[in-house]
Amino acid sequence: MTTPPLTLYNSLTRAKDVFTPIDPDHVRLYACGPTVYATAHIGNARMAVVFDLLVRVLRHIYPHVTYVSNITDVDDKIMDAAAETGRDISDITAFYTEVYNADMAALGNAQPDIQPRATAHIPEMIAMITALIDHDHAYAVDGHVLFNVPSYPDYGRLSGRNRDDQIAGARVEVAPYKRDPADFILWKPSSSDQPGWDSPWGRGRPGWHIECSAMAARHLGLPFDIHGGGVDLKFPHHENEIAQACCAHHTPRDAADFARVWVHNGFLTVGGEKMSKSLNNFITAHALLEGGMKGEVIRLALLGAHYRQPSDWSDDSVHQAQKMLDKLYTVLQRAPGDHAVPTSADPELVAALCDDLNTPQAIAVLHRLIDAARQDDAHMSVLKASCDLMGLGQHDPATWFATPEIGDALVAQIERLIAARETARKARDFAQADTLRQELTALGVTLEDTSEGPKWRPNNT
Ligand code: AMP
Ligand code: ZN
Repeated sequence: MTTPPLTLYNSLTRAKDVFTPIDPDHVRLYACGPTVYATAHIGNARMAVVFDLLVRVLRHIYPHVTYVSNITDVDDKIMDAAAETGRDISDITAFYTEVYNADMAALGNAQPDIQPRATAHIPEMIAMITALIDHDHAYAVDGHVLFNVPSYPDYGRLSGRNRDDQIAGARVEVAPYKRDPADFILWKPSSSDQPGWDSPWGRGRPGWHIECSAMAARHLGLPFDIHGGGVDLKFPHHENEIAQACCAHHTPRDAADFARVWVHNGFLTVGGEKMSKSLNNFITAHALLEGGMKGEVIRLALLGAHYRQPSDWSDDSVHQAQKMLDKLYTVLQRAPGDHAVPTSADPELVAALCDDLNTPQAIAVLHRLIDAARQDDAHMSVLKASCDLMGLGQHDPATWFATPEIGDALVAQIERLIAARETARKARDFAQADTLRQELTALGVTLEDTSEGPKWRPNNT
C-alpha cells in the first residue's frame, strides 16, 4: 500500500485540500511559538505537539522539511514581568525559552529546525516596515508606524471578517494617530527604560505581528507551504501577517502568496473554557512534569482529540493515556532488541494521519497494533515504527516502569536536564552541556551517549 495523499484542512480555502508542496524536495512550514514571560501552559503545548506531529508526517512523505517556530522575546507582557520581578528582560526570556524547550522536549517534540527570536531580527522588521511605507501601505506618526488596513483589498480573507468585524475585533484603543480604526501597529516608541532599537522613526520596538512576517520571509522565503498556530491567532495576528508580507512589494500579492496552507489547532479547554493565562485557568506542562506526570502521557492525552476540535483536559483523558502507554511499554519491554529493526509504520495508521491528522483514528489503530504485538512478536517492529511516527514509545521500557521506584518528579527532572543538554550540544554550547551533565551527576545519574541517543541509569544499578 503506497502512502495516500496528505490532506489538510486549509483555513484560507475553508476546505480539506490535498497538500501539494511548492517544492516536493523541500517542504517549508512556520508555526507561531510562545511569548516567553512564563512557563507554557498545556494549551500552548497542544500547538507544539500538533505541529510536531505534522512535521513527523511530512518527514515521512518528503525528503526534506524545514520547520520554523519563533520565540517572541519582545512584548509588553515580558516588560510587565520584568517590572514585577525586578529581573532583567533578557534573563527572563532566556530562562523561559530554555524551560519551554525542555518541557516541549519532555513531551516528545523535536526542537524546530529554526527557532528565530524576534529581537535577533529587528533589521528585517525595519526593512519590511520601510517597504510598507514606501508602497503607501503604512504611515509614520508621532514615533508610531501603522499599517493602513483599507490599503489591502485581501484583508479579512483568512478570517472571513468583514469591515465591521475587523474594527470591532481590532479592540481599538482610542488612538488619535490612526487614519482608520482597523489600522494596527507596526512600530511603537520606547521610553528610555523600555527595550528599544534605533529606527528611521526614532527609538522604539516592533508591534507583535510584524515579527512573524519578517522571520518567515527571512528563513523560509515566500511563498512557503504551511503556516500554523492556534485558532486564536487567525484574527488579528495571522490576518495582519498576511497583509504585511503581501504588501511589502510593489504590487500587493494575493493572500496565498505568503503561505499556501493555513493550519489552525483548536483550543485546549478546561471545563469547556479556553485555557489561557488571562482567565487564570491554566495548568503548565512544567507543573505536570514536576508533579511526576510523564511527558508522553501529556502528549497522548493532547492527541486524543482531532486537532481542529476543542480538547477538554480531564483526569479521564490523562488516565486513558497512561493506561494505553503502560500497555504499550509492557509489550515493548518483552522485545527491547526489536527497536532497531528497520520497518515502516502500519499503512492504516499512516492513512489516518494523512487524513488531516486524524489522531483518534490513528490511536485506534495503535491499540490494535499493541494487541497484535502482544500476541505475536512478529508485529513488534511495525508497532515500534508506528509509535515513532507519532512520537510515542520513545523511552526505554525499563525506565518507564522504573519511574515509581525513584520518583516520578525526579525522572521528569532528569529527562528535562538530558533534553536541555541535547539542545545545548546541538547549539555547540559545550560549557552549558557540561554544567547540565554535572547537575545530572549530582542527581545520582550515570549518563551514556549511545548511537541511539543519551541513555541514563541511576548510579546504584
Ligand atoms: P502565546 O504564547 O499565547 O502567543 O501562544 C503560543 C501558541 O499557543 C499560539 O500558537 C497559540 O495560538 C497557542 N495557544 C494558546 N492558548 C491555547 C489553547 N488554550 N489551546 C490551544 N492552543 C493555544
Ligand atoms: Zn506569528
